[in-house]
Formats: sequence, structure tokens, C-alpha cells
Amino acid sequence: MPRMNEESRGVFIMRRYLWQGDFSKLPQTRCDVVVIGTGLAGLYTALHLDPALQVVLLNKNGLDESNSMYAQGGIAAAIAPGDSPAQHFEDSWVAGAGLNNPSALQVLVQEGPSDIRQLRDWGVPFDLDSQGCLSVTREGAHHRNRIVHCHGDATGLYVTSTLADRLRSQTNCQLLEKTCLVDFLTDEQDAVCGILTLTADNPGQYAIILARHVILASGGIGGLYPRTTNAATATGDGLAAALRCGAETADLEFVQFHPTALPWPDAQGRCFLISEAVRGEGGILRNHKGKAFMALEHPQADLAPRDIVSRAIYRQMLENGIEHVWLDITHRDRDFLMKRFPTIYETCARRGIDIATQWIPVSPVQHYYMGGVRTDIDGRTTKTGLWACGEAACTGIYGANRLASNSLLECLVFGRRIAQAINHQPTKFSSLTGQPDFSGQLRLVRPILDLPAGRVQTIRLQIRQIMDRHCGILRNQEGLELAAEQLGDIIQELAAVRIQDRFTLETCQMATAAKAIIQAAMARTGSVGAHFRTDDPAGKLNSVV
Ligand SMILES: Cc1cc2nc3c(=O)[nH]c(=O)nc-3n(C[C@H](O)[C@H](O)[C@H](O)COP(=O)(O)OP(=O)(O)OC[C@H]3O[C@@H](n4cnc5c(N)ncnc54)[C@H](O)[C@@H]3O)c2cc1C
Repeated sequence: MPRMNEESRGVFIMRRYLWQGDFSKLPQTRCDVVVIGTGLAGLYTALHLDPALQVVLLNKNGLDESNSMYAQGGIAAAIAPGDSPAQHFEDSWVAGAGLNNPSALQVLVQEGPSDIRQLRDWGVPFDLDSQGCLSVTREGAHHRNRIVHCHGDATGLYVTSTLADRLRSQTNCQLLEKTCLVDFLTDEQDAVCGILTLTADNPGQYAIILARHVILASGGIGGLYPRTTNAATATGDGLAAALRCGAETADLEFVQFHPTALPWPDAQGRCFLISEAVRGEGGILRNHKGKAFMALEHPQADLAPRDIVSRAIYRQMLENGIEHVWLDITHRDRDFLMKRFPTIYETCARRGIDIATQWIPVSPVQHYYMGGVRTDIDGRTTKTGLWACGEAACTGIYGANRLASNSLLECLVFGRRIAQAINHQPTKFSSLTGQPDFSGQLRLVRPILDLPAGRVQTIRLQIRQIMDRHCGILRNQEGLELAAEQLGDIIQELAAVRIQDRFTLETCQMATAAKAIIQAAMARTGSVGAHFRTDDPAGKLNSVV
């Protein structure tokens, strides 16, 4: 018998605003554009905005903590002789199982090379070959060498810090660190006209920022899983706030698991990534008996699309009762490895693994989110005034599975396009007539409560367990229904919670985002790309939902 969902049981209450209080008493500031997030998407967008616009940027925990900072392998773009945007399109399309949005993908592959040139002009220190040209490498499912990189495997650090330095010299940009988006504010026309924020101290301070344009660049959802490569800031806040304000979302069921991370999470659940570029340079996956197994799984063997490699490893782990498989790069010499992968070499060495002579233990962990807030090719969401780019957005370029190193490129191409679209709009904030409409807060019918100490932490761990068990590399209807029921109970409990600190705020955002992902995973009954259902292993039920 089908289970009743939370709404039909009347227990799921979606609060329009997470804060229940008198908005008119909150401090208010005004600007032309507010950018939520200072990863690559937020920074690159802000740097392309007309300097005449007053811009406020926020982040949760400083400029140094973001997925962008941690990116290793590089940025994909068809810049090498013999490569072409058409080939880049084809590789992205195949990896995405043809569910990609062709117009958005066309924009990405055509315009990407000029954004790489822009980064070079701004001083990003890309690695060069012996001829002084950009050095390009290959990653999984690419048929050409097209990944540009910095300092071997520290691309994100160098790209992001170069842009952050540039931003600091922009007099029109104000940076608000340790300040969290809580909700988008909407006016009488239901257009987004600003945001509600909470500072990250405890107890935090609420405030309102009114802006003509609100750009969401808050990154992904790794924090919803117990093991992820993501920064601790990635808790799906933007997705949850967008759902509450009624913005359309897309592809929420598609979560990418990277095949090769060190299998030991830190206290936040973060696992160190072993870049796909290691397999691009000849690394071979081996099982517990030392046997290379990927050639039996896919014609591209170790460089097959990520979902295929992750599932193959996961199967090895389940069938053989092992906690990880091995990645063998010992056939490359030490000097090469130290130069090409300095971060990986040193991090493994600190863990007692000499990658020049020893195999690296690896297992799949959550890594990237293909879903997000639906946008057009200029980053417009379905809500007037709200734009989205980077991992928080869904332009549709990935379809069912992201091609490696396309995400940094997406931050660049679509971030710039948002800025260009805003720059072409003549009106500034002074012309804004609409006022925020706070009547939605009255929808909450329950009293606000404080939970006992430790309860929010327990709830957060429960959300992660639910996502890991039922919405991970393998899913099925029974598990997803159970997950929906358990999350419904959590959301009901959280609906009454007083939110005064970042941790509680994030946990509420996580519950909302998790529920939406589970619902999308239930709706897509067939296996495709990163969404693999054990109740449809052959993908016979696959259809575009
Ligand atoms: C370990 C690792 C390696 C990777 N390697 C590559 C690679 O080689 N190539 C590639 O293309 N991609 C790679 N990726 C993916 C890529 O790094 C990300 O998809 C991309 O950087 C996302 O950029 P972003 O700006 O959208 O988000 P992020 O860089 O994650 O930035 C998000 C920003 O939003 C802020 N934020 C979040 N929530 C809030 C809130 N509520 N209020 C205010 N601010 C908020 C955060 O503080 C942060 O500043 C990698 C990812 C990881 C984790």
C-alpha cells in the first residue's frame, strides 16, 4: 500500500520565513546587487558587474572556505590544437546521458575558452608546457586533453585567491563575512527584492539587505552526506531558501559521487579528494586482490564516466566486504608525481602513504550536485530579481552526470553572463518601488521552541544517515519512501525551532534540501546517469521527468 506523504498527513509545515519576528525592527541596508557566496561563481560574477553598481557579497566563513578553494584537477575548455567546442559538447553530452540542456551546453563550450583567457589576463598562474602554451591534461570521459590547471593539483586555490585579491581592490564591492543567507524576501509582485541574513556568531544577529538583483552563488549540498569532498559551508542553504520563496528547481535527484577520495572523513565529514587527473596520468584502480577491474566495466576503463566508476568501486566494496579499493600510480616516477600532484603527494605522505611506491586507498564519496535552482542561459531563475550560478544553479549543462572539470567553467561562463545581463538593465536600486511583503511569516501556526542541547546535532547526523542509506550511489523506492517519512518527522520537529545560530539554521536548510532531493529521486523511477535505482538496474523505466 502506498504510504501517505507528509503533506497529506498534514504534518509537513513549510515555513515561508525561517525567522518569526517583527521584520520592521531589523537593521536594513540597500544596494544594487547582493551576491550570496564568494566561491568562484560569486567572485567572477561580482568582478564583471558594472563598477557603478553598489555590490554586497556575503559568505559563511571567510574567503578561504569554499568548494572552489578545494578544486584540484582544473578547468575544462577546448583550447588545445585538435580539440573543438563540438568535441567538448559531445563528451559532456555522453557523460550526461543526453539529459543535458543543449543550448546551455553550447554556450558553455563555445564561450569557455574566452573566460580562460580572461583569467590569464587577470594573472591566474596556469601551468605552461615547454613551449609556453597552457598545459592541458585529461580526466574521465574526456576524449581530448583539455583541462588547464595551476600548480599541478591546486587549481581552485590559485584561481580563487587571484580573484579574491582583485575583488578587494574594487571600491564598489563590500564584503560581509560570516553572514548567512536565511531567506529571500519577496515584494507585493512576488519578485525577489532582498534577503534576510543571520550573522554566524552565537547568538547571531538578523538583518535585511534590500537589493534590486539577488545573485545566488552559495554552492552545493555535500554537508547532507556523512562523507563528502565538499567544504563545510555546502549545506544546501540556497536551494532550501529558493524552495521556500517558490523558485523552480531542476535535476534535484542527480548527486555525483567521486570515485576516489581517501576513505577517512574529518570531524565535519570531509574526505580528501584524489583527483581524477591521477587516473588521467595513468592511475589504475585495483581491488583487494590487486586486480585491475575497470577494463571489464567500460571501454574507457579507469577513465569511464564518474557514475560508472563509482558504482563499480561500490560493488567491489559490497561484494568483497572491503572498505576501499586501491589506486595505483606507482609506475610514474617520484619526480613526476611530486611536480604534477604536489598537494596529493604531500597529503598522502602525511598519512603515511608514499604514492610513488604504495597504492592509495580510495572509496567513492559525495562530491558534486548537478541539481539546483533552475536558470536560463543568462542565469535568470523563475523569480524576477533572483539569479543563480555555480553549483547552486541548474543550467542543465550536466544532464544526469557532470563531466569532470566542467563545473569551474560553468561558474565562469554563467557568472559572467549574469553580470552582463544585469549591466544591460538601465535601472538601479533607486527605481525600486516594491516593498518586502512579510505576510508569509503568519503561515506558521506552531509556537517557537528551543530544543534541548545536543538535539540539533543529533538531527543533523540523522539527516546525513538518511541520505547516505537511501539516496546515495544506489537508491530504490522502498528506501526513498522510508527516507521521506523520516525526513517529514524531522521537518515537523524543526518547524518549531527557534533559530539563533548558524548551526541550527544550516540544519533546518539541510532538512528542507534533503526532502526535496528525496522527492525528486522518488519521482524518477528509472536509472539514468548518477541516479541509479536498484529497482530498475537496466534503466528500462528511464524517462525524462
Ligand atoms: C575537493 C574538490 C575538488 C574539485 N575539483 C574540481 C576541479 O578540478 N574542476 C572543477 O571544475 N570542479 C571541481 N570541483 C567542483 C567545483 O570546485 C565546485 O563545483 C565549484 O567550485 C562551485 O563553486 P561555487 O562558487 O558555486 O560554490 P563554492 O565555491 O562552494 O562557494 C560557495 C560560497 O557560498 C557561501 N555560502 C554558502 N551558503 C551560504 C549562506 N547560507 N549564506 C552566505 N554564504 C553562503 C560559502 O561561504 C562560499 O563562499 C571540486 C570540488 C571539490 C569539493
